[in-house]
Amino acid sequence: MDCTYCGSDVVHHDPVYVMEDVNSCGGGGSDAFCNYSCLVSWIESEGKIEGDSCRI
Ligand SMILES: [Zn+2]
Repeated sequence: MDCTYCGSDVVHHDPVYVMEDVNSCGGGGSDAFCNYSCLVSWIESEGKIEGDSCRI
């Protein structure tokens, strides 16, 4: 499986997987990342941090 952010094969790294709700507006599905660094970069580039967290 390729990294959603950089396109590298995640098995060569320390993969992190994200599962999204299929009912969400983004269409859902799963994403794989080489490591948390790629995950954080992707979150920032996609603007995934915008919005409310569940911890209020
Ligand atoms: Zn990556």
